[in-house]
Amino acid sequence: MSAAIIDGKAFAEGLRGRVADLVPDFVATAGRQPGLTVVLVGEDPASSVYVRSKGKATEAAGMKSDTIILPADTSEDDLLNLVRKLNADATVDGILVQLPLPRQINENAVIATIDPNKDVDGFHPVNAGRLATGLHGFVPCTPLGCLMLLKDRLGDLSGKDAVVIGRSNIVGKPMAQLLLGESCTVTIAHSKTKDLPAVVRRADIVIAAVGRPEMIKADWIKPGAAVIDVGINRIDAGERKTKLVGDVAFDEVSQVAGAITPVPGGVGPMTIAVLLRNTLVAAHRNEGVPLAKDAI
Ligand code: NAD
Repeated sequence: MSAAIIDGKAFAEGLRGRVADLVPDFVATAGRQPGLTVVLVGEDPASSVYVRSKGKATEAAGMKSDTIILPADTSEDDLLNLVRKLNADATVDGILVQLPLPRQINENAVIATIDPNKDVDGFHPVNAGRLATGLHGFVPCTPLGCLMLLKDRLGDLSGKDAVVIGRSNIVGKPMAQLLLGESCTVTIAHSKTKDLPAVVRRADIVIAAVGRPEMIKADWIKPGAAVIDVGINRIDAGERKTKLVGDVAFDEVSQVAGAITPVPGGVGPMTIAVLLRNTLVAAHRNEGVPLAKDAI
């Protein structure tokens, strides 16, 4: 069997288009654009690239994008004061502090200071709690993007066996909560899980969020399973070149799975698209402008 390829790039473009289509109505009602402010501390090259693409995508969707770049030696107090200022600014709907932060700054303190209603990354403990208890809040962009791809491909997920490999606060845990919310039977596997291949073999849905290149092999996969590969790993491709691969051994797993996301072009493009979606939702909530439940 050869798996259907889940085209995250195309889905993300569609989502970005749907978000952009809804912006003019918001502007007409609220008298201003939805606004996203991204804060970057230091000049980590990968983070700088992410932040630039977030800014460009925000503007392309017709929203207001601000990027604040602070020196690498910024103190925690200064960053917290900036976050408080952004919390109080009514033209800022979404605040995203790019992680990782330099060592002198406690990430948890920063995340906890962001107004939960502007926390478009969905990392604030209040939003994690809302997700865990089935309340409306902001859901981290990458797992929400994975869920959108799965529902688009499989429709109703109820009763399916899902195995999430990885238990980070950013991907694994919220992904498991989302799947539980869809009435899947969810297993969270991690670095201490015994006989991981046997655990994964039970799954109708496999989410790989580990950060280990091509770790998940074909003989771990139940024939026909849907495989979502969150991993982004840069490996040596010979001749002094590198390439990106996921956590799943794509060539062999795609012979067994029913559907699979490629890397690149699968989950990756969904993250920014969902960030735009979350920002638009934040803007509607902050201004009290209604947004149809299934609009985006
Ligand atoms: P993390 O390092 O915080 O978590 C990795 C998880 O994998 C841990 O919970 C750990 O228990 C588990 N793990 C490690 N080794 C394992 C093993 N041998 N067997 C089973 N589990 C093991 O990473 P993260 O932030 O959750 O990211 C995971 C991957 O997803 C990375 O490759 C990252 O680059 C990628 N990622 C992609 C996007 C995107 O597509 N936009 C977003 C976030 C993360």
